[in-house]
Amino acid sequence: MEGADEPVPGPWKDEVDRILIPASRIARRVRVLARRIAEDYRGQKPVLVALLNGTVVFLADLMRGLDMPLEVDFLRVSSYGDGMVSGELVASGNLKVNIRGRHVILVDDILDTGRTMNHVIALLEAEGPKSIRICALLDKRSRRVVPVEADYVGFEVPDCFVVGYGLDFAERYRNLPFVGVLRDRVFKKRGG
Ligand code: 5GP
Ligand code: MG
Repeated sequence: MEGADEPVPGPWKDEVDRILIPASRIARRVRVLARRIAEDYRGQKPVLVALLNGTVVFLADLMRGLDMPLEVDFLRVSSYGDGMVSGELVASGNLKVNIRGRHVILVDDILDTGRTMNHVIALLEAEGPKSIRICALLDKRSRRVVPVEADYVGFEVPDCFVVGYGLDFAERYRNLPFVGVLRDRVFKKRGG
């Protein structure tokens, strides 16, 4: 992938093995997605529903690229299990915005097996929105178990565990400005 040989910045060298997507490339791509969404929803006032916590960085950049009226709301979905194997999904908290009759754009950090999105779409559909589209920063297509397609995708990524730009490992690394892959020993040590 382009930028893969960009060196890992000093403070992260010990823990991060390599950069998969550099910050500059993410910034360019997020601007493209925002332009596309703004064109598609011209004259409308969509509701962005973002899944916490992984979307915070992506959402902050994406929404500032959308020069149009919109509303933002959040859902938290957790899975029972160790956080990497998808267990039973539970949504906590309710939307504050009433999405009945509204155009909803569901924002997530990464589409993996598709179980999370599938679950959330069913929850949202029960509230009667006019439409639902999915915007995911990253897409691990090869891992899909449930047939879910994102309408807006930042980058397709290979089947490896990625962190940064909002994505965590055991709640760390969300603040990396790039998307990267951890060193094996970090990943294994903290993964138990
Ligand atoms: P799915 O339900 O599609 O299998 O899983 C989606 C969720 O799993 C994402 O929202 C994210 O929280 C987590 N996830 C899946 N793959 C990765 C990954 O490579 N890195 C990180 N940090 N989280 C991931
Ligand atoms: Mg997530």
